[in-house]
Amino acid sequence: QQQQKKKNWISCCQDSFEDHDSSSRKVDLPVHGISETIVGVLGGGQLGRMLCQAASQMAIKVMVLDPLKNCPASALSYSHMVGSFDDSAAVQEFAKRCGVLTVEIEHVDVATLEKLEQEGVDCQPKASTIQIIQDKYLQKLHFSQHAIPLPDFMQIDDLESAKTAGDEFGYPLMIKSKKLAYDGRGNAVANSKEELSSAVSALGGFSRGLYVEKWASFVKVELAVIVARGRDNSILCYPVVETIHRENICHIVKAPADVPWKIKKLATDVAQKAISSLEGAGVFAVELFLTRDGQVLLNEVAPRPHNSGHHTIEACFTSQFEQHLRAVVGLPLGDPSMKTPAALMYNILGEEEGEPGFYLAQQLIGRALSIPGATVHWYDKPEMRKQRKMGHITIVGPSMGIVEARLNLLLNRESLDGQ
Ligand code: ATP
Ligand code: MG
Ligand code: MG
Repeated sequence: QQQQKKKNWISCCQDSFEDHDSSSRKVDLPVHGISETIVGVLGGGQLGRMLCQAASQMAIKVMVLDPLKNCPASALSYSHMVGSFDDSAAVQEFAKRCGVLTVEIEHVDVATLEKLEQEGVDCQPKASTIQIIQDKYLQKLHFSQHAIPLPDFMQIDDLESAKTAGDEFGYPLMIKSKKLAYDGRGNAVANSKEELSSAVSALGGFSRGLYVEKWASFVKVELAVIVARGRDNSILCYPVVETIHRENICHIVKAPADVPWKIKKLATDVAQKAISSLEGAGVFAVELFLTRDGQVLLNEVAPRPHNSGHHTIEACFTSQFEQHLRAVVGLPLGDPSMKTPAALMYNILGEEEGEPGFYLAQQLIGRALSIPGATVHWYDKPEMRKQRKMGHITIVGPSMGIVEARLNLLLNRESLDGQ
């Protein structure tokens, strides 16, 4: 019976794409190309760069707004406006030049996006979605109101309320800043009541806006699901992946995740339900924890392409970047399923500052170039910094065992254990 159920679920996932009535998928294309809509992207980092790469294949014009003259997306974009995505005047000026406004980072000036939306500017996803997501506490409140399973959480305003949370949730306790968090910068762990005040100071004090989460020591693995929503509200989910973090930073992504189909279904259901509660088109990443007792809890959502979806460039019929463009300009969504049996994504993080860091990365890339199924992505960031995401390598192959063996070869080590 379980086999039957599994079969039904798998075929239902595949059919949801394949069985689309082709007549309802017809689109009126402009005379000279796929889309005449100029896509404006707030932010020009590696995600913006990979959006530009996908766009060039379809001759879609992507403009980026980024303060760095030589940001990763600059050279590949249709045009680059130098300015901050957090500067109201710059965002307003930028919006005038594009047909649809989207983001590659959620830490943008959302009040301006709301104002622009009222004036008729097309923002995808919607400003309301960015507003919820850019404040992690608001995000947790939103999802709890929509009955999405989450780790317990509580706002803290002073040492007294932090102690109360510690008494209730126990230690270690995860303290998070509500805003401007990425790559774990914005998280601090208190292992005991005594460590509370130093952890809070490390995050810049209570005035920064903090909340706590119950420690997920019960976590078995971290999972992620990329969910795409078109302008017609059609939703498609990518296969569930497993993410391995090192010091709070995404280190390796394995696709597909090595978990039972029931867990995959649960993770996909939670992800789809979470995204259904938000507004607007685009791809969204849903980060999840799998608990020892088989629960799937939502960690956080990103309203844009995400590190857990980089492998989709080589491993899926439609990459997350192409999918995001299709979604925001109003083209039909593409097939998210995998075209290779297995894929691994390895982040190239800065190991040293400056030249020594570049040298180490070059050596790794040199080895990757001779590994079958490996593709190198280098983001061309002007500065090498420790723990900075400088590029990634995706390895595809006929089985997870084989791609893992290839990664071990790349890293000059015996097994994947011990990260
Ligand atoms: P990202 O770069 O994904 O945006 P972030 O700075 O927003 O990262 P989180 O996703 O909140 O940070 O946390 C980073 C990592 O820290 C998680 O992937 C997980 O490994 C760990 N973590 C987060 N929350 C908890 C928790 N409640 N219990 C245990 N570990 C946690
Ligand atoms: Mg985050
Ligand atoms: Mg995260």
